Amino acid sequence: MSSFDRRALAKAITLVESTRDDHRVASQHLIRDAASTVKGTDSAGGKSLRIGISGTPGVGKSTFIEAFGLHLCGLGQRVAVLAVDPSSTRHGGSILGDKTRMPGLAVHPNAFIRPSPSGGTLGGVARRTRESMLLCEAAGFDVVIVETVGVGQSEIAVANITDVFVLLMAPAGGDELQGVKRGIMELADLLVVNKADGALLPVATATQGDYASALRLVRPRSAHWVPETMLASALTGTGIAEVWEVLQRYQATMDAQGERDARRVAQSSQWLWNELNERIVAHFRNHAVVTGALPLLEAAVASGALTAGQAADQLLELWTNSGT
Ligand code: GDP
Repeated sequence: MSSFDRRALAKAITLVESTRDDHRVASQHLIRDAASTVKGTDSAGGKSLRIGISGTPGVGKSTFIEAFGLHLCGLGQRVAVLAVDPSSTRHGGSILGDKTRMPGLAVHPNAFIRPSPSGGTLGGVARRTRESMLLCEAAGFDVVIVETVGVGQSEIAVANITDVFVLLMAPAGGDELQGVKRGIMELADLLVVNKADGALLPVATATQGDYASALRLVRPRSAHWVPETMLASALTGTGIAEVWEVLQRYQATMDAQGERDARRVAQSSQWLWNELNERIVAHFRNHAVVTGALPLLEAAVASGALTAGQAADQLLELWTNSGT
């Protein structure tokens, strides 16, 4: 990728991340163009593999993505790394995507790293990341990695914008294993126990066995893919090539069944509804009839004079009758 292309992509992403209304219109044109470059729609048909990677802080995400990304670059693949960072929305600063975390990848000519947009809701950050991902795809990246810190809802948001979801785990005793939320395990297409090196190797091996058993109790997301567990060491590089082999097998299996496209189509309609929900609620909240009636109705609900349902009925009736 030439430095000009890189700058153009960075500029396009900045536009997509902007919350200004005039930027929003321009960025939607850009996304549509990007989507048609990718192939006709913003959902199905794209060539690049979108990989979601999540794990708790300290599990080794940065180290892993650095090693994995450099391995892919070495194979001639072009790799983009984007971040969905829920904590940046709370603290105003981004801890993810910081180029110093992935120093080798940050300067590799085949790679592009972009920090998480700060500000806004998790849904908003995820939406902008999804759009940035489309731009990366249109710019010709073969692999787009979306990274998130595993601290709750962000895994679900990332699983909703990617083709495959990889959960990084640390070697842990049986008790800690219990702490992994079942809902998050259900999202994983591949579970990698990282830090399988040195003194941690026996624990890592036992942990992998525990997760493999736990995964057998989880209903797979796909009819054609049974989630797998693997060992890796981002530090020594052991298992990194194998992770890519499994992901390629995953891609081939899903593509043969048309399931990758189907998942993207389902994600697109999910995002349409996310957008609609967000915008309709914002429109409703700002409507003069609603802002006028809301204080009294909220007070009535607070005092118990009306139920929340009754107040909602009244607001909706006022809004409908206003002729908007
Ligand atoms: P993140 O918070 O998930 O991004 O985790 P980092 O990549 O920053 O890693 C946290 C710590 O774990 C650092 O001190 C890394 O050097 C260490 N680490 C990461 N991967 C490995 C690994 O494969 N083996 C070992 N032993 N340490 C690792």
